[in-house]
Amino acid sequence: MCVCICMCLENNLKMAKSVELKNPHLNAMNSDYLYHLNINVPNTKDTSEFQKQFGDVRVVCAGGTKSRMYELALHFRDLLKIKKEDSEIVDLSESGHRYALFKVGPILCASHGVGSSTFSVVLHELLKLVKYAKCDDPVFIRVGTCGGVGVPPGTVVVTKNAYNGLLRNEHEIFILGERVVRPAKFPQNVIKDILAYGASGDDDFQIISGNTMSTDCFYEGQGRIDGAICEYDENAKMSFLKKCHELGICNIEMEATMFASVTYHAGVKAADVCVTLINRLNGDQVEITMETKKTYESRPFLVVGRYVKKLLEGTT
Ligand code: URA
Repeated sequence: MCVCICMCLENNLKMAKSVELKNPHLNAMNSDYLYHLNINVPNTKDTSEFQKQFGDVRVVCAGGTKSRMYELALHFRDLLKIKKEDSEIVDLSESGHRYALFKVGPILCASHGVGSSTFSVVLHELLKLVKYAKCDDPVFIRVGTCGGVGVPPGTVVVTKNAYNGLLRNEHEIFILGERVVRPAKFPQNVIKDILAYGASGDDDFQIISGNTMSTDCFYEGQGRIDGAICEYDENAKMSFLKKCHELGICNIEMEATMFASVTYHAGVKAADVCVTLINRLNGDQVEITMETKKTYESRPFLVVGRYVKKLLEGTT
């Protein structure tokens, strides 16, 4: 080990940092089938073939839908000037019929569905994928949509702290009949780099860093009064949203606390970058046209794209 470090320093090389997951049981498994991705790791003790397919991955992006992740993969292909003929964008998990997974150069783009429960399934499998492929210090980035709190629709929010529906900066999960609470933290240096490199003077939208509330329910969980069930009135809703605003919560979505806590626990870098579709202080219904939605959805692509380009150039 010592010899290796010295050689690397002498050669001015960066040491590869592969992902070490906190699950000792994985070491006892000879193969691992990533069921929902429909990707098999036939020999976990010798993953050299698997590394040929995925070992170059530096960034794993995730977002709700397959079509959005396909668009993001196309965006990266153009941005990184990867020739079409060298990178046909195919869904590697299509036969799994659950999630979509696209690879473009050193970037994976995966769909995760709506909410923490569907995202956590594919996140566990993506983390195992980068571990088996021995990827070097991969960054996980959620590229999503959200409701805004006191910010104009179309604003890009990079999550600072993720709060749950109890307005606590933590993620709660029930394991073996016990309530387990874990911190929901994103690395501050990744947020800083995304803000520094993701913005451009030519942008006609704002990029901000703020706290995010993450809920398990789009309607009651986010204080809407237009769901199928509602047992509070507009005043109660507004006083809750104002309390959120006072806590520095700028946006509300359905994944941040789980995403922050799992990636923090796994020891990988991560960030949540979302565009607001609505200002919740003004209403509940998302009423923008599909055209405006498409424009808004392209904004986190621009921000994340610029950051990733810098990251791959080694200049972050
Ligand atoms: N996604 C959410 O979770 N909430 C919104 O208000 C909009 C998008």
